[in-house]
Amino acid sequence: MKRARVEIEGIVQGVGFRPFIYRLARECRLAGWVRNTTAGVELEVEGSEAACDRFLAAIETEAPPLAVISSIHAEPLALKHDHDFSILPSGHGVSHAQVSPDCDVCTDCLRELFDPRDRRYRYPFINCTNCGPRYSIITGIPYDRPLTTMAEFCLCDSCREEYRDPANRRFHAQPTACPACGPRLALLDHQGEPVAGDPLARSVQLLREGSIVAVKGVGGYHLAVDACNEAAVNELRRRKKRDEKPFAVMSPGMNEVGRFAHCSKVEERLLHGTERPILLLKKKEPHPISASVAPVNAYFGVMLPSTPLHHLLLRDNFTALVMTSGNLSDEPIAYADDEAVGRLAGIADYFLTHDRRIHMRADDSVVRVFQGGPLLLRRSRGYVPRGILLPFPQKSVVAVGAELKSALCLTRDNTAFMSHHIGDLQNSATLRSLEESAVHLRRLLEIEPVTVAHDLHPDYLSTAFAEQFADLPKVPVQHHHAHMASCMAENRVEGAAIGVILDGTGFGTDGTVWGGEFLFGDYRSFRRMGHFRQVALPGGDAAVREPLRMALSYCHQAFGNKAAELSLAPLKTLKDSDRRLLVRMIEQDINTPLTSSCGRLFDAVAALLGLRFRVSYEGQAAMELEALAETGERTWNYPYAIVRREGMLVLDFSLTIQALVQDVQEGVLSGIIARRFHDTLVSAAVDMCGKIKMDTGVSRVVLSGGVFQNRLFAENLYERLETEGFTVFAHRLVPPNDGGIALGQAVVAGCRDEA
Ligand code: ZN
Ligand code: ZN
Ligand code: FE
Repeated sequence: MKRARVEIEGIVQGVGFRPFIYRLARECRLAGWVRNTTAGVELEVEGSEAACDRFLAAIETEAPPLAVISSIHAEPLALKHDHDFSILPSGHGVSHAQVSPDCDVCTDCLRELFDPRDRRYRYPFINCTNCGPRYSIITGIPYDRPLTTMAEFCLCDSCREEYRDPANRRFHAQPTACPACGPRLALLDHQGEPVAGDPLARSVQLLREGSIVAVKGVGGYHLAVDACNEAAVNELRRRKKRDEKPFAVMSPGMNEVGRFAHCSKVEERLLHGTERPILLLKKKEPHPISASVAPVNAYFGVMLPSTPLHHLLLRDNFTALVMTSGNLSDEPIAYADDEAVGRLAGIADYFLTHDRRIHMRADDSVVRVFQGGPLLLRRSRGYVPRGILLPFPQKSVVAVGAELKSALCLTRDNTAFMSHHIGDLQNSATLRSLEESAVHLRRLLEIEPVTVAHDLHPDYLSTAFAEQFADLPKVPVQHHHAHMASCMAENRVEGAAIGVILDGTGFGTDGTVWGGEFLFGDYRSFRRMGHFRQVALPGGDAAVREPLRMALSYCHQAFGNKAAELSLAPLKTLKDSDRRLLVRMIEQDINTPLTSSCGRLFDAVAALLGLRFRVSYEGQAAMELEALAETGERTWNYPYAIVRREGMLVLDFSLTIQALVQDVQEGVLSGIIARRFHDTLVSAAVDMCGKIKMDTGVSRVVLSGGVFQNRLFAENLYERLETEGFTVFAHRLVPPNDGGIALGQAVVAGCRDEA
């Protein structure tokens, strides 16, 4: 006989862990108890040695699907001769629990949902200990019903029985509910007045007729229209003031997805994951989806239903619904009921809503496949607030991110917690959302930060937000160093590395705009080893919105004053006077900052190929260029030059632009040109790494920055570097774009000793 005390840490609360332990202990004929602590779960078991061993082994192998065990610690105790196994009320320790993310409906609940004999038949709020809302409804810890937005619903007798029965799969399922005692659906018109009839059946009918319905999801409202109805999709675009950005779609299942998108085995697994992200899938031609859903884009953003309500809405009714976040462009997603009707009134015709409050917003996550695994492009619902294990413990830091795709990061010991996606911090609404998230996460995770990390840029709203932590020391972190540290941290890289950091814009240590950067360093510090040759941004931000300006700027760099006379259709679309004005701005340095941006080079090439002269969202031209390049065969590369200037490696694409322009003039297929450009960039980056390796002796490379969302470029560079003998690290858990930058800021600040 033997007795053991076991402490388990990780995501083990709110995922059905105690009931799992209870059932396992009984199966193994062990006595003892289990309880939640603020650190996780602790338990004692007593029984035969063989049974104890079997029990311990099964904890890891048979844990509930949502559980993530970060550590198990077991030690022997003296026998106490218990006779039974029981679940004790929560204990009170000093360390920390982890809150689990929101989760899709499990297969058991789904079966009941469509079983006419079940008492929860077609009940949109069905859930159990293995599934349902978590992060978005939790108001505090420990995770118990009174500290969720379900507190206001009193359990009926049947639900209470299930909730108290350790053998029931709804034992201690905090958000459990049924039609008798739980939340209810309602359908409102655009003024917030109730619509008569069954809310669900009416909604399906309205969507079929082409109406725009705001649907309350897990972390906020979606705007839904029938994805196959061109007129409805266009109307949604018009009302949402969203000209070209692709809309995500939701399909009831794989059969329907297969009608419009290609889906590999890996992708199918990701679609079905409990996180239910939006997955970027290659379009299948022809397809029944409206052309306006994702114009000029090779991919659809696709997700499967993530709530019982979605299943009920979609199954047998639609091939796909557009499900785009319920907001006006640039504003945070609407999640509170009182504001939703007000804010979305001009967009939605109807509101399919309910009375379970959302406490914390969480937008949909976006994932694409990279090198056979997931790459998060937006980390939010389903993943937040899962911890990311750091290479070492550090002091508690709050990092506030940059400007675009803003997200926070908080650290505790050796774990970092990224917040949900907040959005582009360019207005007071997103700033307020950032403030709320900071408060919520700190409370949920019980973190008292001792240092604040922020971007070096003095004018970002996030930098102003950092200043609000008046009594804490602040650590400014250079944008591209933060990107680099972010990729190193999630890969738990220790020691120095080469950073290939390619993005659109970041404030440099010399006050200029960086973006195509080759760094060398570690978490503590870095050196800029090389960069793209600087090019003029005629008109500053205007040049970011108008790739045609960048095309002219690059041509000016490559051809000098002959640029204005080049016989090149895209440049000819500029009026002569405009072209002369832009050239004068470049030559006389009028409102024309310099940048080493990589994003602007993509913009310039997209414009030279006549793809796009104006962009309505970040990365648009580059995405279209990538899509075009995927249609081109690999042939040969354009030339480029690397020169050493004052110890700095400068990567110059003037030769590339010259050769590329010649191709355009000779009428080479634009898919081939786009592909040659991608391959040139890969070779140039590999070359730069080779030179830095010679200088430093280090062959470890990390890849980060928004350009690595480009799969064609990222995969080719990754493979080429590996072939050349480099050890390569890329992102998976956090986005390579600015959505992942807070992680890097937090780690850099965590190992700096500020005054
Ligand atoms: Zn379930
Ligand atoms: Zn009930
Ligand atoms: Fe960036």
